[in-house]
Amino acid sequence: MAVLEGTVVAAALRGELTAAVGSLAGRRPRLDVVLVGDDAPSAIYVAGKQRACHEVGILSHLHRFNAHCTEAQLLAVLADLNADPAVDGILVQLPLPAHIDTKKAMEAIDPSKDVDGFHPINRGKLCMGDPTAFVPCTPLGVCELFKYYRISTAGKRVTIVGRSNIVGKPLAMLLMQQAPWGNATVTVAHSYTPDLVEVCSQADILIAAIGKPHTIGPHMVKEGAIVVDVGMTAHGDAQPGRKRRVLGDVDFAAVHHKCQWITPVPGGVGPMTIAMLLANTWESYRRRQSLISLADA
Ligand code: NAP
Repeated sequence: MAVLEGTVVAAALRGELTAAVGSLAGRRPRLDVVLVGDDAPSAIYVAGKQRACHEVGILSHLHRFNAHCTEAQLLAVLADLNADPAVDGILVQLPLPAHIDTKKAMEAIDPSKDVDGFHPINRGKLCMGDPTAFVPCTPLGVCELFKYYRISTAGKRVTIVGRSNIVGKPLAMLLMQQAPWGNATVTVAHSYTPDLVEVCSQADILIAAIGKPHTIGPHMVKEGAIVVDVGMTAHGDAQPGRKRRVLGDVDFAAVHHKCQWITPVPGGVGPMTIAMLLANTWESYRRRQSLISLADA
């Protein structure tokens, strides 16, 4: 058994980005984050994203609004950010308050600045195998782990448990693509899958994105399988001075001896998600700068 160390891979990626951003003579990449409302976990996630930007030298601006912010106000801010040439990436932290239409907000972001990959244009491009798609950060992070550890997915049977728009579906698209680190035979399971144990235990690569701690036990894992745990569920009451525990969807202690590779929680997929947000912002910056160079030529 060997561990897929997301912390190590993410640190390597951040090191490369720090060097690339540090070598720039002119404008630096910039990510703008929009946070609406008082959701405490969202504020923590946003702070983490901003800190990560700061560490690699990417500029990060926060646009914070209270829960009374109207949909029209949010759309106006997004229009300003779309038009601002200094902004490379725009991220609207979810969930939004119930009175704001999330779909409308996602569709209001310029697809060329949609570094979260949630705009329908980017989703369509991903389905079509268009390499200019911005891909959601968590699925991209899973594929980056495979790349780093040189785990080929070609010809493998992959089972993904979970069909959400931010994890399961885009990950299935990536892994079935005709591309390096694609070419897998992908099965997507969900809460209506009647024979989950069988579907999981046939997989060469089993990916859990469920949100229910320790759903995947040893009876669901093939001997020698690669197991990736996307799940992150906060567990226990927060105590003063102590962090809450985060649990994965896989019962690591019971499963790891059967695996060729396995991700831990925390320290597996989690750190990759933020690293890929930085990578997408850098990619958007690079594309924007090369368009400017072409226009100047
Ligand atoms: P979600 O939208 O709630 O989707 C969960 C999926 O799991 C659904 O498709 C659901 O099926 C399926 N499911 C639930 N119970 C099941 C069961 N008993 N058997 C089979 N399938 C079952 O969740 P999500 O947003 O994809 O997130 C999933 C987990 O990943 C969460 O723990 C989340 O915190 C974590 N996450 C981590 C990162 C990271 O950076 N590491 C990023 C994003 C999400 P139905 O569709 O039929 O309801």
